[in-house]
Amino acid sequence: MINPPLISGRDLPAIRVRPPGPISAAMGQRLHDVESRNITFVGPEWPVFWSQALGANVADADGNIYIDLTSAFGVALLGHANDAVLSALKEGTSLIHGMGDIHPPAPKLRLLEKLVTFSPWPNAKVILSTGGSEAVEAALKTATLASGRPGVLAFQGAYHGLTAGSLSATPRPHFRSLFEDQLYNGVAFVPFPDPLRDPSPDGRSSLEAVRRALAQGAPNGDPIGSIIIEPVQARGGVRIPPDGFMSMLSSMAAEHDVLLIADEIMTGMGRCGATLASSLLGLEPDIVVVGKALGGGLPISASIASAHIMDAWPASTGEAIHTSTFLGHPLSCTAACAVLDTIQAHKIPDEADRLGNSLREGLRERLVGAPGVAEVRGLGLLLGIEFVEEDGVSPDRGRGARVAEEALLEGLILLPGGDHGHVLELTPPATLTEAQVEYTCSTLSSVIRRTP
Ligand code: PMP
Repeated sequence: MINPPLISGRDLPAIRVRPPGPISAAMGQRLHDVESRNITFVGPEWPVFWSQALGANVADADGNIYIDLTSAFGVALLGHANDAVLSALKEGTSLIHGMGDIHPPAPKLRLLEKLVTFSPWPNAKVILSTGGSEAVEAALKTATLASGRPGVLAFQGAYHGLTAGSLSATPRPHFRSLFEDQLYNGVAFVPFPDPLRDPSPDGRSSLEAVRRALAQGAPNGDPIGSIIIEPVQARGGVRIPPDGFMSMLSSMAAEHDVLLIADEIMTGMGRCGATLASSLLGLEPDIVVVGKALGGGLPISASIASAHIMDAWPASTGEAIHTSTFLGHPLSCTAACAVLDTIQAHKIPDEADRLGNSLREGLRERLVGAPGVAEVRGLGLLLGIEFVEEDGVSPDRGRGARVAEEALLEGLILLPGGDHGHVLELTPPATLTEAQVEYTCSTLSSVIRRTP
């Protein structure tokens, strides 16, 4: 590794050697020999190995500096290595590991009490987990116990995770097909509203499909007890439901006595312009799942519900039915407390709203008339640029990935999204400076224009 460059978090990109430089390329070859081959894609143009991350900046092993427009999968909403998180962690090193559900680490209690104040319910109760998929599992189990019905309704294009339970509610064949026989087949999938292709007002055709599925039950005949939905489908291509859809879905769920699980793992913690995106869109969940940004870079997630739902779990008689070794990990809990305090003190949802508008408008302005750009859309700092073929509706397969590869050469880290890789997804930190926003809008729009 060369001497790491100094990054401030507020820097513009500085590409010293075409990425991936020789050091990243050599590390890629070594990785190829030791990691299961399905995990990291190693090709001539991909990946770069990170050596540092601060604020919105990342430096790679070859000394290149980037703007991270992904927040590393949406996690670094407060910026990488946020000061408040770092200080809390330094103070928290007197307890590196605890006994989550037996003799709990003190920071677990602090976090749970704070999470309750952030939840929609004054009397909420929480199950902590480590990653997003696990928190989805906990929410699905909770819903089964509380509704008494195991069947689930989920949406086409959704991403809820890759563990067995969460994968059962994630429809994309790419993730499922090799394991289909091991998955629970009591999940009914219905279309998520797609205003670009289905002009029915309020996503009505999607609501009709929900109504039919609730009446019919799950494919295996199980009655449906819960609906799981992302307020904005993130990995599915930043799909934002039309006005009115979520409130009608909420009424329908209440009518059928079905619990609504809001998967806010990407949309929550302020990213979309409110603590929870549900509140912006009229979604009235019974269970909320958060993760990613919650830990400020440390792994932690939570399933939250009002006490009367959560108390469907039997009281512990000494051995929890649902727990894990790292439940309530003290350092993750300490980091999450600092994150929640920072979200409140620095009005992160307002900042996400302001920066998100400025990115969206800046990109829209520069992409007017750009061939194949169907839409620049976003809610707060969750933005998507959708690419279509000449007919204006067919997804332009893989263009999101092609643009992400080209943008890396200009110092912008990005990810594709959508079932066909036809969307470019932006989930940047709320610490972007005006100059970083300006660089992103002008550079990204010219990369898009020259990358068919
Ligand atoms: N739900 C949503 C909405 C997500 O975006 C993700 C991760 N991309 C998950 C669940 C799964 O989280 P994890 O990868 O931490 O298991």
